[in-house]
Amino acid sequence: MLVNGAWIDAGSGRTYESRYPATGEVWSVLPDADEADADRAVRAADAAFRSPAWRGLTATARGKLLRRLGDLVAEHAGELAELETQDNGKLIRETRGQLSYLPEFFHYSAGLADKLEGSTLPIDKADMFAFTVPEPLGVVAAIIPWNSPLYLTAIKLAPALAAGNTLVIKPSEHASASILRFAALVEEAGFPAGVVNVVTGLGPSAGAALTKHPLVRRIAFTGGPSTARHVIKASAENFAKLSLELGGKSANIVFDDADLESAVNGAVAGIYAASGQSCVAGSRLLVQDGIYDRFVAALTERMARIRIGDPLDSNSDMGPMATEQQLGIVEAMVGRAREEGAEVLAGGKRPAGRDGWYYEPTLLACDSDQLDVVQNEVFGPVAAIMRFSGDAEALALANGTEYALAAGIWTRDIGRAHRFARDVHAGIVWVNTYRAVSAMAPIGGYGASGYGREGGIHAVLDYTELKTVWVNLSEQPMGDPFVMR
Ligand code: NAD
Repeated sequence: MLVNGAWIDAGSGRTYESRYPATGEVWSVLPDADEADADRAVRAADAAFRSPAWRGLTATARGKLLRRLGDLVAEHAGELAELETQDNGKLIRETRGQLSYLPEFFHYSAGLADKLEGSTLPIDKADMFAFTVPEPLGVVAAIIPWNSPLYLTAIKLAPALAAGNTLVIKPSEHASASILRFAALVEEAGFPAGVVNVVTGLGPSAGAALTKHPLVRRIAFTGGPSTARHVIKASAENFAKLSLELGGKSANIVFDDADLESAVNGAVAGIYAASGQSCVAGSRLLVQDGIYDRFVAALTERMARIRIGDPLDSNSDMGPMATEQQLGIVEAMVGRAREEGAEVLAGGKRPAGRDGWYYEPTLLACDSDQLDVVQNEVFGPVAAIMRFSGDAEALALANGTEYALAAGIWTRDIGRAHRFARDVHAGIVWVNTYRAVSAMAPIGGYGASGYGREGGIHAVLDYTELKTVWVNLSEQPMGDPFVMR
């Protein structure tokens, strides 16, 4: 682990193992940090936050460090992608794709570092001058899930550093290796010791210790809703500002007038890419009556051509689930859907003749939106498909879960596209595309999908707090102390 510029083991000497999902074999052994290790890392980050080495840097100098970090990530993209694929079993095509874009996140925030301005306030009082200054918050605890560790770290770390904060990152116990390699690049970029720290460990020990730590001022959490409830409670201890990027049950809505081939590709991109282990997965396919049969035929034909294979092989289209436990969840949820009356149109089982934690791309026809598989996140390659007849029904179905992260709309009618974009309850709406991301575009949801946004200009401001400064310009003595002025 990296704490205060030193590579250390857990104080207890304990370790845990992480496995390669394609084979189930142990491939990395990591320090198992406890509360004392987390405390040490937070204290290092707090000291760095106050140190002249970091506090004394101009915003432009911070931006330059971030730019260098982005360049180093670009230089080491291939190596980082391979580490991440071995960690979480995501396709090398996907991790390479993510890595090729990741430097933009650092470069974008680097450019914003010296553009965080306060303002002078047009105060309605004579002889009073007032202005605001955006200030960094202090130590940020970044809690990361296993599905896209580097991307979900970059989207927190880059704006947090641009604004002048320091961090302790806790990657997922299932996928820590790529973050440790990345931390070495942070050092190489020249960030002072203690500005970025990484502790590896389990959620209930290292994660919980970080989120309740009295010196932590901001928690940036990505993960599941039940873990988020622990994090919210922990923040009641330290009053840390929170952002929560949680799960989803996003609707991908296909209208009769959609381009069939694009909509089928959009459905595959939404739920079978990354084996469905994506927070924005388009796991509910809502398809209009007039196109339903043709859509199902084209989609199942396309699904039959999905090549399941080793994620390190660039010819594979779909890799395994990241953990054995996740595979168990997928199997259980499909089993339950069957019992509740869902019809299996494709998949619904593990592929024959494969070790590792693979599951076939699966399509379940559902008559009712009350099925568990329609309401709850599977986080696997399982789409629930339902038909609708008109716009009102489509909207009611789309808005009918407690999640509200993303939605896809497939139509050639521009008025309808905008009406749905306006009325659908989701933090991200894609029209005639799916899973597009950019450093400039905020992501985040409502309801059980969380709150706060990552990405874009506002994300940097979310790592600051405004100070208001009042200056009395009058030469007169202050006068009556018992009135508010
Ligand atoms: P998870 O909630 O199990 O774990 C996330 C992180 O929280 C891990 O680092 C874990 O160790 C830590 N953690 C666990 N218990 C904790 C506790 N008590 N206190 C503090 N930290 C704790 O999630 P996961 O299984 O790793 O990831 C899958 C989930 O993440 C899915 O629900 C998915 O939708 C969500 N996700 C959301 C987004 C998004 O941007 N909205 C992106 C990716 C993943």
